[in-house]
Amino acid sequence: SPTDLVPLLDRIIDRVKPEADERKIGIVRSYPAQKTMAFVDPNRITQVFYNVLTNAVRYTPSGGSISIRMTDRSRDGSRLAVVDIEDTGVGIPAEQLPFLFDRFYRVEESRSRHTGGMGLGLAIAKEFVEAHQGFISVQSEVGRGTRFTVQLPCD
Ligand code: ATP
Ligand code: MG
Repeated sequence: SPTDLVPLLDRIIDRVKPEADERKIGIVRSYPAQKTMAFVDPNRITQVFYNVLTNAVRYTPSGGSISIRMTDRSRDGSRLAVVDIEDTGVGIPAEQLPFLFDRFYRVEESRSRHTGGMGLGLAIAKEFVEAHQGFISVQSEVGRGTRFTVQLPCD
C-alpha cells in the first residue's frame, strides 16, 4: 500500500530534533495541501531522509537552520513528490560534489573534523532512491549551505 510521506517526514524530524535543539538549529517544514502518497518501502525511504537530515544537522553550525519542503509536480503525466532539504551549513566545494554519493567519500574538511561518520550515508540514500525509480541531487555553496533534492514517483 502507498505511504503518506508527510507523517514519515514528521517522524524523522522528531528523531533529529533533540540534537538540533541542543545546537540551536531551527527546523522549518512546508508540505503540499494534497496528500502525497508514494509506493515506497517506508523503512528504506525513512533511511534516505534520515541520512540526509542527520547530515544537515551534523554539518550545520549552531544557530543555523534547516528547511524541509515537499511539493508535488507532474512529469510526463505522472506525479512526483519533490523533497528539498536545505541547510545553512558549511557547504561543499564544487569540485567535490561529483564524488559525494560514492561509498566512503567524505569531503576533505569533514575528514579531520570530530563529526564521526563513515561516508556511507549518502551512498545508501542514492541506492535506495534509485531502487524506487527516483532521483537524488545536490546543490551547494561553500560557507552558505547545501540543498539536497529527492524526487520520488507517487500515486
Ligand atoms: P555517515 O553518513 O556514514 O555517518 P558521512 O556523513 O561522512 O558518514 P555521507 O552522509 O555519505 O557520509 O556524506 C558524505 C560527505 O558529504 C560528508 O562527510 C560531508 O563531508 C559531506 N556532506 C554531506 N551532507 C552535507 C551537508 N548537508 N553539508 C555539508 N557537507 C555535507
Ligand atoms: Mg552522513
